[in-house]
Formats: sequence, C-alpha cells, structure tokens
Amino acid sequence: MKILVATEKPFSKQATDGIAAIAREAGYECALLEKYTSVDELKTAVADADALIVRSDKVTADVIAAAPKLKIVVRAGAGYDNLDLAACTARGIVAMNTPGQNSNAVAELAIAMMIFMARNQFTPGTGTEISGKRLGIHAYGNVGRIVARYGKALGMEVSAYDPFITDPAIFANDGVKMASSVAELYRNSDYLSLHIPATAETKGSIGYDLLMSMPKGATLVNTARKEVIDEAGLAKALTERPDLKYITDILPDTAAELAEKFDKRFFTTPKKMGAETAEANVNAGLAAARQIVSFLKDGVTKFQVNK
Ligand code: NAD
Repeated sequence: MKILVATEKPFSKQATDGIAAIAREAGYECALLEKYTSVDELKTAVADADALIVRSDKVTADVIAAAPKLKIVVRAGAGYDNLDLAACTARGIVAMNTPGQNSNAVAELAIAMMIFMARNQFTPGTGTEISGKRLGIHAYGNVGRIVARYGKALGMEVSAYDPFITDPAIFANDGVKMASSVAELYRNSDYLSLHIPATAETKGSIGYDLLMSMPKGATLVNTARKEVIDEAGLAKALTERPDLKYITDILPDTAAELAEKFDKRFFTTPKKMGAETAEANVNAGLAAARQIVSFLKDGVTKFQVNK
C-alpha cells in the first residue's frame, strides 16, 4: 500500500517524519509531493497511490480520475471544501477530515485578531480593550468552543449560535448565552467570530444586512472561509458605517479594493495562517496518517465526510 502526501504548502519536517513513521510501522510505503506547481504533477504522483493526504490542495474529479487505486483521501484539517466529495463517492473512495486537530491554533489566531483590531493594528494611538465586550460565536464547533472559552477567560460576555446545536445545556454548561437566531447574535456582538463551514447554504450568507445590524464599533473576525462573505455587501456596509471593522484570515477576492478604501478598518493575513502552527501541523498530519492506517487495516470510517 502506498500513502501519498501531496502538499502544495508542505507540512513541517516533524509532521512528515511522523507520517512516514506511522506508514512504515503499518508496513506501507510513504511518498511526498511537496510544493508542486501544476495539477499534472499531482496527477502523476497519485497514479499508484492507495491513500492520499492533502492540506488545502484541491482534489478534483480530474485528480481522482488519475488515481485508479485510490481508496481513501484525508484532508489534514477541518474544512474539506477542497475535496470533490461527489467524485470520491462515485468511485467508492472514503473522504475524511481530521476535526479538532488544529482548532486551538485557529482559536488563538481569532483572539489575536480581535486584540490587533482593538489596538488599531498596532499603530500608535489609543485603542480599546476586548475585556468587557460582547463576543458572538457563529457556529459552535471545535474552533468556536475554544474561542468562547478564551473569550470568557479574557472577561468577554460570550453568546453563540449554531443551528445544529439546539440543546441549551451545551451552551449553559460552558457559561455561554445561546442566541436564538443569527440576527440576534449579530445585533448583540461587539466582536463576531465566524466559524461556519462553506456550504451551499452558508456561501455569501454574511453580508450587508447582518453587518449593518451590528453595534457601533463592531468587528467581524473571519477565520472560517472567504466564500461565506458577500464581499459586495461587506464593502457597502463598511462604506456606510465608518465604525465597522473586518479582519480575515482568508484573502478576500477584493482584498486590494478593501485595503485601499478602508485602511485600518480592514486587515487580511496574506496567506491563511490559522492552522499554521508547529503543533497543529503535526497534530493534523499524524491524525491523517493514523486514520488511513485504521481504515485500511480495520475499516474504521469514524471521520468519513462523504457517508
Ligand atoms: P467544526 O466542523 O468543528 O464546526 C463547524 C460548526 O458549524 C458545527 O458546529 C456545525 O454545527 C456548524 N454549522 C454547520 N452549518 C452551519 C450553518 N449553516 N450555520 C451555522 N453553523 C453551521 O469545524 P471547526 O473545526 O470549528 O472549523 C470551523 C471553520 O473554520 C471551518 O469553516 C473551517 O474550514 C475553518 N478553518 C479555518 C482554518 C484556518 O486556517 N483559518 C483552519 C481550520 C478551520
């Protein structure tokens, strides 16, 4: 059996060494394709692979068609919108993610982004504190829950909304107020931290109306996905409301325009860095390798996302 690790943006050496060790122990071969620059390179490398580990790399129907032996694809990370799930399913390929492995890294970045904006992007002058402010968590999954915990530790008043969590006890046990709707959450959040996945339902769902409903001086923090933002609506709201701010870890399509128009009220990391910590890198990479071994040896499909 051959596991291919295909990463345009490579894992750390510690992670690839760990993945190789897990493969070796299972009696499998491990191959690395790093910093590739064309889909053709990926298609060639995947031709004899039984299992594939990727990060944000796109696993399209075209790539899958070039991998006749492929049985499992694991996205080392949480979001798996880079995998063509329908194409995987059509071929009987199991697709997985590694939920929770990079959540702490993303949560720490979300908190850092709030403080960065509260202090005027570290330019001289008087800023504000996040303690005592209202923090809204949109989607209470692995990342959202940690951001809520850290927000509380920093003295923030935390509310959350997640359409799939209807048991108030889940929020109450964490000392988090359960918002009854998306609208209520945005209306009452000085900082709104976005943690929704990019799905057909959520794409373009955060725009003008929600932003305009936010309190004076509010900041929208996006460590989720750029696709969930309606960028035209965002620009319109930032234009009409000179008090609003937007910070994102996912480069917007209109980043240049936003930066030019909104100066210190807008910031984007140049390249997604939420999960870019040594710890998250290793955690997600090793989890992906272990999940592959468990699947190939014992048929374990715990983290399958195309069931
Ligand atoms: P998760 O799967 O643990 O949680 C997602 C939550 O979203 C779940 O609780 C689910 O109930 C909720 N949800 C699903 N559809 C929803 C909807 N329509 N409206 C509101 N909530 C909805 O995921 P996670 O690990 O917490 O990651 C959250 C997001 O962060 C994902 O979009 C992921 O792609 C992104 N992410 C970004 C980085 C980065 O580098 N910036 C790294 C990891 C994850």
